[in-house]
Amino acid sequence: APLLEMRSITKDFPGVKALADVNLVVRPGEIHAICGENGAGKSTLMKVLSGVYPYGTYTGSIIYQGSQTRFSDIRSSERAGIVIIHQELALVPGMSITENIFLGNEPRRLGRIDWTAANRKALELMSMVGLKDDPDTLVKDIGVGKQQLVEIAKAFAKDVKLLILDEPTAALNENDSRHLLDLLKGFKQRGITSIMISHKLNEIEAIADSITILRDGHTIETIDVASDGANEDRIVRGMVGRELNSR
Ligand code: ADP
Ligand code: MG
Ligand code: MG
Repeated sequence: APLLEMRSITKDFPGVKALADVNLVVRPGEIHAICGENGAGKSTLMKVLSGVYPYGTYTGSIIYQGSQTRFSDIRSSERAGIVIIHQELALVPGMSITENIFLGNEPRRLGRIDWTAANRKALELMSMVGLKDDPDTLVKDIGVGKQQLVEIAKAFAKDVKLLILDEPTAALNENDSRHLLDLLKGFKQRGITSIMISHKLNEIEAIADSITILRDGHTIETIDVASDGANEDRIVRGMVGRELNSR
């Protein structure tokens, strides 16, 4: 059975049909790429899933782990193990790596934040994502590649089953991008399911098991890479609606 099915999701903003009858099926343990040009509806679809836009502001159904689900806010989707890392990182620049990892979610002992435990746990999470800095370092003093890793460590401070990354490599250099893609592959070995929004064909081809293509708020198709192959022409045709060389 799929881990997640979104069926016939429709969402309007004033004057804009952002999503029209969009379908998405994600299998457990896979890396599922969602691709499409700017404005296709990718971020909106993931905001619907994660409760940023609660039921009532969209129509359609979400079946997660076998049951129909309507998240009323981000907290409730996180309790179900769905963690989204948005395009705009949600870090506090003037706070340390440890503080950011646990923000609002700090380990407590006798009612107080247990900073010894927090630092120990932060180091474990940092090593999981390959971040070797001092956990007391302020987030504003590390580069964007490392900041993205802090966001991922923060996701794993929660009990994540489905990790959603919205264009995670958009601001990263080639080395940082490669490190991040390798991490996602490593998480997959450990049974974590990921959804990665991207429009970079090379990285989609490098890691995706399935690819769902959105265009103008519509689902164009889902490609099962193992059986259909990730054909670059097919992806581009889906994204732009015609052959690239006929532009
Ligand atoms: P993508 O992530 O694929 O670039 P988005 O989901 O951000 O696309 O946007 C889909 C469409 O919805 C676009 O036309 C965008 O302008 C519009 N849109 C997104 N968010 C809002 C919003 N908060 N208010 C109004 N329109 C929005
Ligand atoms: Mg966009
Ligand atoms: Mg977007």
